[in-house]
Amino acid sequence: MEFMPDFKLHRPATAAEAAKLRADTEDALFVAGGTDMLVNVRRGIEQPKALIDVTAIDDIKSIAEDEDGLHIGAGVTLRDLATNELVQRDYPAVAQAARAVAGPTHQDYGTVGGNLCLDTRCLFYNQSEWWRQSNDYCLKERGEICHVAPGGKRCFAAFSGDVAPAMLVYDAEIDILGANGELRRQPLTELYRNDGLNHLTLEPGDLVTAVHLPKSLAEQPSAYEKARIRGSIDFPLAGAAVRLVMDGGKVANIKIALTGVNPYPQVVKGADTAIGKPLDEDALDALRENVRKQAKPMRTTTVAPWYRRRVVGALARRLTAQLAG
Ligand SMILES: Cc1cc2nc3c(=O)[nH]c(=O)nc-3n(C[C@H](O)[C@H](O)[C@H](O)COP(=O)(O)OP(=O)(O)OC[C@H]3O[C@@H](n4cnc5c(N)ncnc54)[C@H](O)[C@@H]3O)c2cc1C
Ligand code: SF4
Repeated sequence: MEFMPDFKLHRPATAAEAAKLRADTEDALFVAGGTDMLVNVRRGIEQPKALIDVTAIDDIKSIAEDEDGLHIGAGVTLRDLATNELVQRDYPAVAQAARAVAGPTHQDYGTVGGNLCLDTRCLFYNQSEWWRQSNDYCLKERGEICHVAPGGKRCFAAFSGDVAPAMLVYDAEIDILGANGELRRQPLTELYRNDGLNHLTLEPGDLVTAVHLPKSLAEQPSAYEKARIRGSIDFPLAGAAVRLVMDGGKVANIKIALTGVNPYPQVVKGADTAIGKPLDEDALDALRENVRKQAKPMRTTTVAPWYRRRVVGALARRLTAQLAG
């Protein structure tokens, strides 16, 4: 770890002030729980001149229900998300995913906003300054080549947040407050792009303030599971969330989303071809193969890509079978 660099810390009390500060301040970044950001600062990966701490903004810290669904502030901690009775009852995969993030202390400080906006990760990037320097850095930060795919100009660092796929299977929407004071709502899918270098579509000053889970999908059965190296505390090597509704022995509704196997949390295309059919062994095998085809893990972890691809298919198949059973 490097020494903490000099930076100015701002702690605004409102979301509007935070968004404006971020846009108006040179080399400024948001920090929430800091469980990822501060590690990156200590490693020299991030070198901000200012950090804008959003944890004093009370307006983004509640979970509220109304006739449209559940509204979760971006400043809600993962602990509060995992233990909230409405989340556990109505959107179980979301509670399970929050409980699967890192370890208990990270869940006490880590927030929903920080988890959704987590930087992409790679074996060649999440390293100390001297380690990265001795490898001439890489495309994602200060370098000229990608060590994972040296022939190209793309970064394949993987999105490795646990909560996003669980929210995606419930068609989550997010609120973003821009530096101009405008609040806009958009599908969570539109927060991401398939680019490990720049995987978020946020503009400087855009603050995610809330997530909305629709009432129409509340109580539909769902589950989340991940594979990781250290069971007690680790990022997903691969993770899958499934929402499944059965009716009369046939699939009435299904949605699957993945993490850890692409630069963005990905909704699996074509899962709905199972709708109207029974979930026999052949259907479950077809679903697993479809998931495997769309997962494109690269050599961004110490675990081989082929293994992560196999695991993510197996996780999706197993969760689907369990929910059906
Ligand atoms: C040892 C270790 C293990 C971990 N394991 C996991 C794991 O298993 N699964 C997992 O998902 N994560 C894991 N993490 C990462 C991290 O702890 C969590 O993702 C956590 O939820 C991040 O939230 P935070 O509030 O601490 O974010 P921060 O670290 O404060 O911020 C993360 C990023 O989000 C941005 N940001 C924060 N809030 C907002 C907002 N409201 N609007 C816009 N941008 C925002 C920040 O600018 C920063 O880029 C791990 C971290 C460590 C150190
Ligand atoms: S995928 Fe390539 S460019 Fe991206 S972080 Fe890894 S080594 Fe760097």
